[in-house]
Amino acid sequence: MIRISWTTINNYMICPMKVEHDLNDEPASISWAMAGGTVGHDTLKAWAEGKAWREFFEARWQQYASRRAYQKNWNQEFTDPDNAMVQRMLVLDLLGQYTAARKSDLPDPQLVERNLDRDLGDGVLLTGRVDEIGKGKIIDWKFASSVKYLSSVQACIYSILNGGPSVFEFHAMVKAGMPYYQPIDVPETRSAKNLHRVIEGHIKPIAFSIQAGNFPSNPTAFLCQKRYCGYWDICKGRFE
Ligand code: SF4
Repeated sequence: MIRISWTTINNYMICPMKVEHDLNDEPASISWAMAGGTVGHDTLKAWAEGKAWREFFEARWQQYASRRAYQKNWNQEFTDPDNAMVQRMLVLDLLGQYTAARKSDLPDPQLVERNLDRDLGDGVLLTGRVDEIGKGKIIDWKFASSVKYLSSVQACIYSILNGGPSVFEFHAMVKAGMPYYQPIDVPETRSAKNLHRVIEGHIKPIAFSIQAGNFPSNPTAFLCQKRYCGYWDICKGRFE
């Protein structure tokens, strides 16, 4: 049985060589984008559980920023204290906007960050962690630079994990320019035909390619940059 998650599928679509680096457990550098998203997600989980989320955020941010194991691999942008302060304020601002917008619509803590899996047949098991199963819909918390990069493939994959056609929303916390929060409905997730197309056109072909050890590089990808790819410093793929 091949186990495959949205993260792996997404990385493979960007650049198959990223998946090879991941599978080899090679050390990746960490960008502010990744740190902000991770700490933001952890904080929203704490908020859903009724914890004092601002205190949680500060502690988690400090913990992240002082972890020596990561420091040696951080991208250079991490060493700039002014940038660190800007990034921290951005994420905090977005978390404040989001929690205020949902103060009368709190998540059920039992339905936050749920690990789900789904047997797709042909020896493929789809796995994933869904941020929130809300009232009649699936929600994915997204800390993004722009809503234009949100993927309807991801939305379909989470509907598949949820057992079939579902109402799906990205709750996008957008960091670029004037930070703002925007819920985005993805109608493609409500059609069995679309979900079937994603299973047969994306998930299974990628799973079989990984199984066959097929990991070409994609140096033309927009995300093939030091800023966005954690493997930039060690990757020879970009020169091919
Ligand atoms: S540096 Fe470029 S080619 Fe190498 S893994 Fe990253 S995206 Fe792929």
